[in-house]
Amino acid sequence: MLTFKNRTALVTGAGRGIGKAIAESLAAQGVTVICVSKSADSCGAAAAAIIAAGGKAKALAVDVADGTAIAAAAEQLLKEFPTIDILVNNAGITKDGLLFRMSDSDWNDVIGTNLTSCFHWTKHLARPMTRARWGRIVNITSVSGIMGNAGQANYSAAKAGMIGLTKTLAREFAGRSVTVNAVAPGFIKTDMTTDFVNNPEVSAKILEAVPLKRFGEAADVANITAYLCSEEAGYITGQVFSVDGGMAM
Ligand code: NAP
Repeated sequence: MLTFKNRTALVTGAGRGIGKAIAESLAAQGVTVICVSKSADSCGAAAAAIIAAGGKAKALAVDVADGTAIAAAAEQLLKEFPTIDILVNNAGITKDGLLFRMSDSDWNDVIGTNLTSCFHWTKHLARPMTRARWGRIVNITSVSGIMGNAGQANYSAAKAGMIGLTKTLAREFAGRSVTVNAVAPGFIKTDMTTDFVNNPEVSAKILEAVPLKRFGEAADVANITAYLCSEEAGYITGQVFSVDGGMAM
């Protein structure tokens, strides 16, 4: 077990996949988790599952691409919870296509949901962390943000941007013992990758580039994320941890 001293976390994209696994992992270790997703059904079910398992959770439907909605949600939450000590920016989408066919809206939607959302949540939640002189921020980026990936100009740019944001904020907040790190998954079995994973030809091609020769599980990403949020990880900041079966070596 990791050490968490009566902490509260906000996890975006906690309704499904990697975010849900992160929320469950933190809750299993005594953290109160605010589960954010786009649909109320999705975050509601995730929070209900945590509560049914004996944990503490709250569901909140917020469109993370909407900075005004984030500001309103953060203001309300900071009245309700004395501190939000941990922020996991995990919500993300893909809208793939080669550059010449990529529409402005596909570019803007992916940058807004994956990258600009991190700017907004961090701006609102990090100030109380710096005042409390304790905080953990983990940004879920991607192997695509490290290596690039043909057909994902928008997504790779957003995920690379998250790495730059992580390193900069790690420097800005270090004096207040607020750590900022990034986790970069490779191919993890979730709704986002169902089409690849369930297509034998495509998955065989992908696995040629994965030294461990298998897809990852959401729990593989949740394990290191929970560690980075714990007391034990207090001397780690500004780092990017790949969870990709060795793809980006
Ligand atoms: P997923 O299964 O598709 O789940 C995405 C979650 O994000 C959902 O809960 C969804 O909410 C939420 N979300 C999407 N857009 C949102 C918005 N505008 N506002 C609020 N919530 C929003 O995805 P995943 O595979 O778990 O991916 C999680 C993160 O890991 C993403 O940032 C992704 O880029 C990154 N990642 C994934 C992989 C992979 O192989 N799966 C690899 C590298 C990086 P709803 O449930 O309400 O729809």
